[in-house]
Amino acid sequence: MFAEEYELQEARSFARKSLEKTMTTGSRGPDDVTFTSFRKVIEHELDFPWLTRMEHLEYRMWIEEKDMNALWMGKASFHRLSCSYNDKLMQLAIQNYGFRQLVYKRELEELKRWSRDNNLSDMGFGREKTTYCYFATAAAIGVSLPYDSHVRLILAKSAILITVADDFFDMEGSLNELKSLADAVKRWDGKGLSGHSKTIFGALDGLVSELAEKHLQQQGRDITNDLKDIWYETFASWLTEATWSKSGRTPSMEEYLETGMISIAAHTLVLTASCFLNPSLPNYKFRPAQYDTVTKLLMLVPRLLNDIQSYQKEIADGKQNSVILYLRENPEADIEDSVAYVRELIATKEKELLEHALMDGFSDLPRPCKQLHLFCMKAFQMFFHSSNRYDSNTEMIDDVQKAFYIPLKLQTPKPLIKLMLNQLPLPLHHHSRSKNDYQSVANCFNIYGKRSLAAPRVRWPVSRNFGYKNNIVMGVPPKIRFSFF
Ligand SMILES: [Mg+2]
Repeated sequence: MFAEEYELQEARSFARKSLEKTMTTGSRGPDDVTFTSFRKVIEHELDFPWLTRMEHLEYRMWIEEKDMNALWMGKASFHRLSCSYNDKLMQLAIQNYGFRQLVYKRELEELKRWSRDNNLSDMGFGREKTTYCYFATAAAIGVSLPYDSHVRLILAKSAILITVADDFFDMEGSLNELKSLADAVKRWDGKGLSGHSKTIFGALDGLVSELAEKHLQQQGRDITNDLKDIWYETFASWLTEATWSKSGRTPSMEEYLETGMISIAAHTLVLTASCFLNPSLPNYKFRPAQYDTVTKLLMLVPRLLNDIQSYQKEIADGKQNSVILYLRENPEADIEDSVAYVRELIATKEKELLEHALMDGFSDLPRPCKQLHLFCMKAFQMFFHSSNRYDSNTEMIDDVQKAFYIPLKLQTPKPLIKLMLNQLPLPLHHHSRSKNDYQSVANCFNIYGKRSLAAPRVRWPVSRNFGYKNNIVMGVPPKIRFSFF
């Protein structure tokens, strides 16, 4: 949904209210198997906005819920779309999911090895997020397999390094150590570093060399200096935040956001990986002064999402955050007002980002680069939309297992006739359905007959459960036919 699409917004809230109502009134009792399956799908729709959904897990849900692969035409009827290739398409989807899991498992093992070899998996402080970083990359990014394996690995390696270095600046290093490390990144010379600083710089230097060499081979252009510059920009922002925190200085909101948009490092990930897409990022869009608007929006939205989920911890740690700063700059506001203000800002800016990423004419970036910006925002939304899943050691386990390890759980398909009979409205003044009720509806569709599955109009019995005063006339599109697989 883009900004100023008020009708769409209204339609969305109408649909949402209707689904919520269905959740409270839709079930016909504990034996209502059909509704139980539908409940899962409706809950998913209500609980997870599109921006928080990971493509890979979405595919899984729709394959596993394939019996719900039906159009719910009204409160009392189903139509399942059918085509002669349905079974084959389903088989293909199942095999594709299994193939993806194999590739993802192999890449995750490679990443774990890389983290271990670079001593990043056992720093003794902060977060070890190799699996989470790779999960977000693999599950969010709809790039083709296995050709874009290197793009996934670049994103995940950069994200692992960012997590470790950010924690070092936030919680471990002394101000002198942090200044030395940022200075080493500026000079791109690790001489004189020791301990964790040496480990972080060594891993960064190795990554930048690897990527620059790959890019030179792939596209014939040396991007070493561009990579060094964007990493220095990121390290400098972490140093600024650490200096504020250690000196007790409170920046203005404007100052904070200017730095915070860089320190969240979403652009560090996406611009680096965009150099390896085809067509790739134009060289000049890699330079801070010339970041595209969609890049700037990507830098802002994840920062604000992260702030909403971390302000309590940051108040305790004496750190700054947009939620805390709004409160400070607006003494009449309380913390709820402050969170609401930041949420509103996120909602506005994410609509702008969608427009820039999906519409022509807003951005000069090639389409794959714009899409990567969008996927990255989705990954941040997935981690921070309703809680801080990135910092939780338990909230992501189920999704990670489903994405990489647990085979698809396929149900035995239920014949549609059973679904329909389960869903029939109760006749007036009766608590149970009679055989005649089933028969009369079955006759309408000629279910027990030979053919003619598409009756043009069907008059359904009035159901007091659903509160209709008049009979409901359902139109049946003539080309849709029922299938019994
Ligand atoms: Mg930080």
